[in-house]
Amino acid sequence: MRVKLCDLKKQYKSIEKEIRSTVQRVLNETSFINGKDVIQLEKEFARYCGTRYAVGVGSGTDALEISLRVLNIGKGDEVIVPTFTFFSTASAVCYTGAKAVFCDVEEDTGNIDIEKLERYVKRSKKVKAIIPVHLFGQHCNINGIMRIARKYRLKVIEDSCQAHGALYRRAGRWIKAGSVGDTACFSFYPAKNLGAYGDGGIIVTNSKKLYTKMKMLRDCGRSSKYAHQVLGYCKRLDTMQAAILRVKLRHIDSWNKARRRNAGLYAKLLNNSGVHPLEVRKYAVPVYHQYVVRTRMRDRLRDHLSGRGVMTGVHYPLPLHLQPAFRFLGYRKGDFPVSEKLSKEVISLPMYPEIASKEIRFVCKEINKFHNKI
Ligand SMILES: *Cc1c(COP(=O)(O)O)cnc(C)c1O
Repeated sequence: MRVKLCDLKKQYKSIEKEIRSTVQRVLNETSFINGKDVIQLEKEFARYCGTRYAVGVGSGTDALEISLRVLNIGKGDEVIVPTFTFFSTASAVCYTGAKAVFCDVEEDTGNIDIEKLERYVKRSKKVKAIIPVHLFGQHCNINGIMRIARKYRLKVIEDSCQAHGALYRRAGRWIKAGSVGDTACFSFYPAKNLGAYGDGGIIVTNSKKLYTKMKMLRDCGRSSKYAHQVLGYCKRLDTMQAAILRVKLRHIDSWNKARRRNAGLYAKLLNNSGVHPLEVRKYAVPVYHQYVVRTRMRDRLRDHLSGRGVMTGVHYPLPLHLQPAFRFLGYRKGDFPVSEKLSKEVISLPMYPEIASKEIRFVCKEINKFHNKI
């Protein structure tokens, strides 16, 4: 058997007809930039998240950078980010001239540790914002973060790039990822829970002021065709991707449901297998962008699985404070022991909505075999 980590083809085949007719329509309309599908997607995605506004942009990374810019973060400011996340959460901060201040994570979920976070906030007057990440599709303790943010008057940008549709229990209601921060950023990278057929991203917000500024910033600082109010960028979401995403948005809830069903099967079959799935908090209903387990024998288990035709991933093999690109920030090995430990123990098992339960059974059987041999 060959089991892929992620298989985009199965999903494409399941919606091929809708996609083909949509692509054909956009080709006939020839309104490739700022077309009506972009406006429609923004309305539909904002409604999906439970926010007032959304602004389509070129990628999740662009979404983060534009969010920071409209919140006036730049040189002299500090922004707290987890060190155990994807590169862009921190690179976007550095693009603005602000300093990324790394924070360690909780060992059982991989999400930012809010006790440590509050300590950094207390220590430095320069901290202006926090970018919490809903890692692998599970909410971080966003209530705790909002409480700290209010207490110290900080901005919050939710990095929801892995968490389209993830739920969080707040004041007795289930709310969607991205609905409480000043802004929230989503990526439409093809392998994300909601993926385009190319690059794309979106920012959601409840603030009309931020919305208006973000629309200008993504499109050359324009207020009209040749009136450029600010030094904006060319970071737009194109019409073709927006149209494709509108088709896919209609399926996201059923795809997330399938991911949760797959995660449930993994959890059941991996009981007593020697590997430990990340914990799920009571306040969260995750959408399993990745299905991540921990083991001290990570590299040997990966070799075993790959020999049996099972592809796996490691998210992430190196915490950001140890990445060469961030050397200039002056961090060292040992600064964030939990993240460093996780980066040696985590393994991402095959996970996508269409994976067959017999494939999951095969993966789990091989993991059990591996551990019984040792
Ligand atoms: C994917 C991702 C990004 C960046 O998204 P792109 O669309 O690739 O720019 C940022 N943060 C996190 C946590 C991500 O997973």
